Amino acid sequence: MRVAIVADVHSNLEALEAVLHHAEGEGALEQVWCLGDIVGYGPDPSPCLALLRQYGAVCVPGNHDVAAIGLLPTDDFNPDAAVANAWTARQLAPDERLYLENLVHVIRQGDFTLVHGSLRWPIWEYLYSPEVAQAHLQRQETPFSLVGHTHVPLLVVEDERSPEGCQMYYLEDGTAFKLGDQRLIINPGGVGQPRDGDPRAAYAVYDDEALTITLYRLEYDIAATQQKMVAAGLPRWLIRRLSLGR
Ligand code: ZN
Repeated sequence: MRVAIVADVHSNLEALEAVLHHAEGEGALEQVWCLGDIVGYGPDPSPCLALLRQYGAVCVPGNHDVAAIGLLPTDDFNPDAAVANAWTARQLAPDERLYLENLVHVIRQGDFTLVHGSLRWPIWEYLYSPEVAQAHLQRQETPFSLVGHTHVPLLVVEDERSPEGCQMYYLEDGTAFKLGDQRLIINPGGVGQPRDGDPRAAYAVYDDEALTITLYRLEYDIAATQQKMVAAGLPRWLIRRLSLGR
């Protein structure tokens, strides 16, 4: 079986469709694992929710999902994110709010643990430093874990001989690696708002027979998403950053 691993869709339907279409070609639509932030920032919260639910995605919530239903204050959000959050909250139907409300923060799927931020603070801690990775690994009960939130593809390999306790690697388009004895943390990058300078949508495919994970970057119709954001009156920087991958 092959699994599509997506994170930080952020209401970007064009990016999500590009990813799911590619996953279909890879035979990876039997299962979809989603690492949170389905909504927030982009113009299509309801269609993105509908698509992921249609594929029966196994999903943990992100800070934007929780904030959109009023369960997390947006005081710590930057002003643009807070504006987009208020707009998103107005779009959601009662049934969609209920779906988001019922998402569980940490989920186990076989050898994997799924969480949005980190296992120390599931909703909002960014896992980008060895210190945070260590705190996360101490709480990781499965060989592998999957995180999102930073919108940057990353592989963390536990390494007790290194002074920092782990090695960190950026994952490029087409990078594939084999799962073995070493404990890992994997971030597949962001579908709907990449932040590593590459505007293409990012996601990963897990093959449970070959025991590999492969990262992919995909072009999508950024201009179409941006036009919808203009029409919705969403903040200008949120529109522009999609072109920059920042
Ligand atoms: Zn996010």
